[in-house]
Amino acid sequence: MSETPEPARDPKLLDKVINLCKRRGFVFQSSEIYGGFGSTYDYGPYGALMLNNVKAAWWRSMVQLRPDVVGLDAAILMAPQVWDASGHLASFTDPLVDCRECKERFREDLLPESGACPHCGAKGSMTEARHFNLMFKTFVGPVEDDASVAYLRPETAQGIFVNFKNVQGAARMKPPFGIAQVGKAFRNEITPQRFVFRTREFEQMELEFFVPPDEGMKWWEYWCAERLQWYVDLGIDESRLRLRQHDADELSHYSAGTADVEYLYPWGWGELEGIANRTDYDLTQHMERSGEDLTYFDQETDTRYVPHVIEPSAGATRSMIAFLMDAYDEEEVRGEKRTLLHLDPRLAPVKVAVLPLSRNEQLIPTAAEIGEMLRPHFMIDEDSAGSIGRRYRRQDEIGTPLCVTIDFDTLDDRAVTIRDRDSMGQERIPIDKLVTYLTERLPT
Ligand code: ATP
Repeated sequence: MSETPEPARDPKLLDKVINLCKRRGFVFQSSEIYGGFGSTYDYGPYGALMLNNVKAAWWRSMVQLRPDVVGLDAAILMAPQVWDASGHLASFTDPLVDCRECKERFREDLLPESGACPHCGAKGSMTEARHFNLMFKTFVGPVEDDASVAYLRPETAQGIFVNFKNVQGAARMKPPFGIAQVGKAFRNEITPQRFVFRTREFEQMELEFFVPPDEGMKWWEYWCAERLQWYVDLGIDESRLRLRQHDADELSHYSAGTADVEYLYPWGWGELEGIANRTDYDLTQHMERSGEDLTYFDQETDTRYVPHVIEPSAGATRSMIAFLMDAYDEEEVRGEKRTLLHLDPRLAPVKVAVLPLSRNEQLIPTAAEIGEMLRPHFMIDEDSAGSIGRRYRRQDEIGTPLCVTIDFDTLDDRAVTIRDRDSMGQERIPIDKLVTYLTERLPT
């Protein structure tokens, strides 16, 4: 069977997106004035808005729209025993190799099949792999000794497992049900790379879905389909998404099945999200180490069991960059280049731009009045500097779906022009119908 050819990607896309992110205030390098710091990034005004929108879209679909999922916000610092029980202390490691020729470090599992050094091209130059634990260590309290060691969580999932009993009891949930969490995670990655794709500090959006043991595979298949569709619904081109099932030798020891939602990044296919059937591994481990009973008693069937867990685990920061890359576009309009982000309105940092046609003093008060009227309803930008064409381009470049233009006719007819980002089509709308009109055009 012949494989469908991969859609072509602009090899310069990553650089273009990085450039736009910095120029327009989406993402900056952390501690930039000190030369940057170890693959960490800061989210600027538009980036912070967009990242919040990605997380809000996930929360809405996973918690708000589902009767069977509740939320949690657990602490980043947890008892160190958690990481012993979960297996992270012993085996959350990456195989680290060094090139004897150029002294660069790599993750052995990410080397090309030829084994050649990706940096200097030397063959057979790699050292034996050493296992390197990815957890960041810190100390809790004033004394820096072994008894006060704690770890920054490398995933949000364990906060959910250790709260299984609390949440299930307090929210009176019955399997199948899920607990969702969004939050920071930290990994001392050996090869952080490709902008915010793999960083040492990042955000995850994780669901642990607890099911009766014999329903594990059914729910795993369900979540694989649901999660793939989430990215499609938020505008990622289907031809650049795929579900890749892990081979048996790739599976973690506890997993009865894992598939990755993969995106076609400019450098090739890579993970966006992993969906694993973790069986009863985590709850059993925590039950054994803590001595707490983490079983569920089903009164209807009069049975007691340790629930199995399906885990869709996505990266918020990694998804944001995929959404940006997928939305990035360049067009030629009347001989001029137009850069635009075709972002779904739910993800766009700014929903509406309020633009007086010029800085004429007759127009400014009406523009201010409209800004005041829209601000409680939508995230807006107000801009009166430069030609209207340039200001449309500035909004296109950050993905603002709609612009409201106030012109001299507005002073007579109390109507404004709405300009659509994608079609560049324009429509005239009375000011008193503006909020209703925009609400209909901008889904939540
Ligand atoms: P990879 O090997 O690509 O770094 P992983 O298989 O270790 O990822 P998981 O442990 O499955 O990742 O984590 C779930 C999700 O969290 C990933 O799909 C990704 O979106 C996100 N994620 C994991 N590590 C990082 C990181 N270092 N930077 C940004 N996002 C990350």
